[in-house]
Amino acid sequence: MAMADRILLGPGPSNPYPEATSALAAPLLGHLDPEFLRILDQTCERLRQVWGTANRRTLPLSGTGSIGMEAAFANLVRPGQPVVVAVNGLFGERMCDVAARYGATVHRVDHEWGQPVDVDRVLAAHPAPALVGAVHAETSTGVRSDIAALGAALRARDEDTLLLADCVTSLGGIEVAVDDWGVDVAYSGTQKCLGVAPGLAPFTISERAWAHRVEHPPTWYLDLGMIGDYVSGTASGGRTYHHTAPVAMIASLHAALGRVLDEGLDAVVRRHHAAGQRLQDGLVDLGLELFAADGHRLPELTTVRVPDGVDSAQVRGRLLTEYGIEIGAGAGKYASTVWRIGLMGHNARLDRAELVLAALRQVLR
Ligand code: PLP
Repeated sequence: MAMADRILLGPGPSNPYPEATSALAAPLLGHLDPEFLRILDQTCERLRQVWGTANRRTLPLSGTGSIGMEAAFANLVRPGQPVVVAVNGLFGERMCDVAARYGATVHRVDHEWGQPVDVDRVLAAHPAPALVGAVHAETSTGVRSDIAALGAALRARDEDTLLLADCVTSLGGIEVAVDDWGVDVAYSGTQKCLGVAPGLAPFTISERAWAHRVEHPPTWYLDLGMIGDYVSGTASGGRTYHHTAPVAMIASLHAALGRVLDEGLDAVVRRHHAAGQRLQDGLVDLGLELFAADGHRLPELTTVRVPDGVDSAQVRGRLLTEYGIEIGAGAGKYASTVWRIGLMGHNARLDRAELVLAALRQVLR
């Protein structure tokens, strides 16, 4: 059977950068091989640059983006502690669920889907929570929230509350500045703007947050202290085995990050912006209505309303079979009334924007 070859313009995964794909085919190294440990160290250093952080504890966790969310709550929240979560889409909802499973008393601040996080409402939810969580780029709605403003407001109020940012759909696509924004913990996923297959969760945690950590978290696999003994080494300098590192995936992330940094972070952000703007302008020209609030739209993930009388699934099906293009359905209650179109990483290009617009024009005729 012929291999299917798709143009992945949904909410993720996106097509990896060619450098990331070819790294997967390199001869496999052992996870304690000095040559692999050099690649791992460089990967962590490259991640620091992309996150905008000097955090020593910056590493790729084994697993998809959700593992980053899980690791954050497992290592930072004690039973009964108050946690505030800004919910403006599916992934804010997921944060509430995960936080509650680790025993947090969750104060959720619900927003209308399609709107950004309201900093004042989040602050008003609790006077001194242990942690505030928010999603930087809500993939379910295509909305960007102002994490810098949230960080500044939290710092101005008290020094003890930790700020957790979900950057699964923002890292490597739009500006992320962990240290400047006062973010204590953040996680991402490789399959979106970073341009790698799904399988790793880049993660970073500040010294301040590390000082608050749960010493013996109720999860063995995601115990950041034990993982750190392998990734960064023990006090005596050695690397101790925790679990077998997914070496091929880390080599692939290493290559993609090299590509991103060679291009330059600013240039990568500009490329995402230009592609997203072209797509959003083109969709409006087609007579379609954008879903996310104006002024808060993500360039890398566009949400657009399905026109009345059009069968969402049929259009997506035709795009896939006739044009080899995958776009996403909406999320939650917008499953059949919104489409999600991603231009992330290697796909954040004008030609991809024009391609999906041309295909949509044909299918909607
Ligand atoms: N957070 C956001 C904003 C996401 O978009 C996703 C996945 O789409 C996740 C978390 C969960 O990541 P994963 O599906 O890789 O576990």
